[in-house]
Amino acid sequence: MRNTPTILHLDMDAFFASVEQASKPSLRGKAVIVGGLGPRGVVSTSSYEARTFGVYSAMPMAQARRLAPNAAYLVPRFGLYRSISEQVMALLRELSPLVEPLSLDEAFVDLEAGGTAWDEGSARLAGAKLRADIRAVTGLTGSVGLAASKMLAKIASEQAKPDGLVVIEPGTERALLGPMPVRTLPGVGPATGDQLRRAGIATVEEIAEAGEDELVRLLGKAHGHALYAMALAHDERPVVAERETKSVSVEDTYDVDIHDRVRVGLEVQRLADRCVRRLRGAGLSGRTIVLKVRRYDFSTLTRSETLRGPTDDPAVVREAAARLLDSVDTTGGVRLLGVGVSGLADYTQEDLFAQAAGDLADAAPEEAVAEPVEERPAVAERHWPAGHDVRHAEHGHGWVQGSGLGRVTVRFETPGSEPGRVRTFRADDPGLEPADPLPLVPGGAEGGGGGPGAGPVAVRGSG
Ligand SMILES: [Mg+2]
Repeated sequence: MRNTPTILHLDMDAFFASVEQASKPSLRGKAVIVGGLGPRGVVSTSSYEARTFGVYSAMPMAQARRLAPNAAYLVPRFGLYRSISEQVMALLRELSPLVEPLSLDEAFVDLEAGGTAWDEGSARLAGAKLRADIRAVTGLTGSVGLAASKMLAKIASEQAKPDGLVVIEPGTERALLGPMPVRTLPGVGPATGDQLRRAGIATVEEIAEAGEDELVRLLGKAHGHALYAMALAHDERPVVAERETKSVSVEDTYDVDIHDRVRVGLEVQRLADRCVRRLRGAGLSGRTIVLKVRRYDFSTLTRSETLRGPTDDPAVVREAAARLLDSVDTTGGVRLLGVGVSGLADYTQEDLFAQAAGDLADAAPEEAVAEPVEERPAVAERHWPAGHDVRHAEHGHGWVQGSGLGRVTVRFETPGSEPGRVRTFRADDPGLEPADPLPLVPGGAEGGGGGPGAGPVAVRGSG
């Protein structure tokens, strides 16, 4: 383990809720809850104001509504969050080639590998500058932890929240960890926590005191050994780049073009099974199923479908791949087929996204897009998801505050405006249409192209 605090952990503060507050002036300083609003919805993120009512991530939405009945309840806008995440990740990659995203708003950075920091002073400066840059580019705050290992850097950023920076100096780790609850350590969930508690172990120091043999006896060899090392603040896990782009896929090229449609279908099923075996082998599941088809004339098509939640079920992947194949013309022959799964889930927050997005898919059919989108299906009744942006021919840009009974209530305001006024329209008002989100910082959209109020942030899948 290194002896300088040059591993950085960034965690944006209440990310989804903060984005919504930045884009909606009337919600600043108010309780905002983002998540699935359907009957089985869960909270993805609550603003700090909502946390004072006891509303936290992963809580059932019904419980949140009981605790904070007057909060603003919004469905997530993943396209917007993703575009802001990309701005943040780009700033991290200026610090080091070793950036390991854990979710849209959280990542490790190895500052030493990037030559950005080599001791405590330079690490502190890099962390402070990063926080200022994030604020300038996105208008949002993020908290930074700096330590000599990933485990401690993450603990430090937790202590820094909100809007702070904490350095854990090498040599002080064990004294700091000792009194903390066992759940602080990575890999200790509720079940392991209970098991340790029944053995009389509540704090990290008590793990260290129990000794490695006792830990192995309680938790098995691999887990016991790893946890004992963590309790002694030994964490050698390196920062690994490009975790976010992971996908699992398999493909086959055929010597002779396949013309038989039934045979093409069977090949796709076989590839789907192979892909799932590989996915399971890596202990992963994923939400987006991708089919790749190269035709006789070398034209290559990809089609994808995003499921309600991550899966590693071969039947589900086979069915999705078959549906995607239905939309591809293979007359003339096929020379290559591939099946892949992306949108991989190997950390908790992604599961929350999936659940929230699943509820969103109920309300907004465009979330379940197949790609490329050729034509948006005609929707008999127009949907106005709470929190989504709209434009009115007469009143300009605003967002949906609520809808129902054939009416939609819109608040007309933009990130740079004063809190705006509310107006109610008929849900089929011809002057009202869905709009793309505006940049949170004037001129802050990618590329720095236009001036204040320039075009919308490029966002996929919104509308
Ligand atoms: Mg966060």
